[in-house]
Amino acid sequence: MNPAAFVTRLAPSPTGRLHRGHAFSALTAFEAARLAGGRFLLRIEDIDTARCRTEFEASVFEDLAWLGLDWPEPVRRQSEHLAEYRAAVEGLRARGLLYRCFRTRAEILADIGRAPHGPEPAFTGEPLDAPEEADLLAQGRPFAWRLRFTEASRQLGGFGHLGFFEEGLGAVAVRPELVGDVVLARKDVGVAYHLAVVIDDALQGVTCVVRGADLFEATHCQRIIQALLDLPTPTYRHHRLILRADGKRFAKRDTAETLADLRRRGWTAADLRADLGFGPV
Ligand code: GLU
Repeated sequence: MNPAAFVTRLAPSPTGRLHRGHAFSALTAFEAARLAGGRFLLRIEDIDTARCRTEFEASVFEDLAWLGLDWPEPVRRQSEHLAEYRAAVEGLRARGLLYRCFRTRAEILADIGRAPHGPEPAFTGEPLDAPEEADLLAQGRPFAWRLRFTEASRQLGGFGHLGFFEEGLGAVAVRPELVGDVVLARKDVGVAYHLAVVIDDALQGVTCVVRGADLFEATHCQRIIQALLDLPTPTYRHHRLILRADGKRFAKRDTAETLADLRRRGWTAADLRADLGFGPV
């Protein structure tokens, strides 16, 4: 296989220490690249300036090197490319695909009777009429840019022709009901995860996105954004999630299973690799 043909990546957000689940994801992507004779990239997804910290970024590099992984330098840091994302937001806005939403996530969830910490369900809002919007802008009220989902459907001629290839599953048709008027630019940084991730995957030539099954639904949204921006669609491999001993998902506050902690307790990288089902480097 042409070594350039397979490109995958790990895209952690440095909002905490890496845990066993991240190690599984990293090893799955790294081994996929190795087996395909391709490339494994590391990308730092640090647009959430309130939660990302440089010390966590340093620990990402340390932990992944300890696991035996390497990657091309320099790594792409999303915080260094905000102008590129904002240009894409501007392009979508100019095509009538975005509207300003002044409501907070908490207000939206309260309206539809959902718990504040749950995932945001597909949301359909309503653009404000011009005087109302002008009034809120004049008051300096912050807003996010949301996708005008019905307009996206109109411009794309519906979503029926959109899908992606999931390794081990085959062709998956996009399920528009999972998407809705998703936020493409947050109030604070002017971009949101779904937009930055598709731009970066395309710019970095990623051919196969390897990530946890918790992001499977996000792929439906990201496929629509790829179509709107005329970006190529990689294939996807959403791997099983590594759970805590009690069957729950790891949370940032679970410090006992961080790689730093396992290391402190005497685990070697070989121990962890074997425990997660991978052979020696
Ligand atoms: N930054 C995301 C996370 O840490 C991963 C995004 C992705 O793999 O597409 O959950």
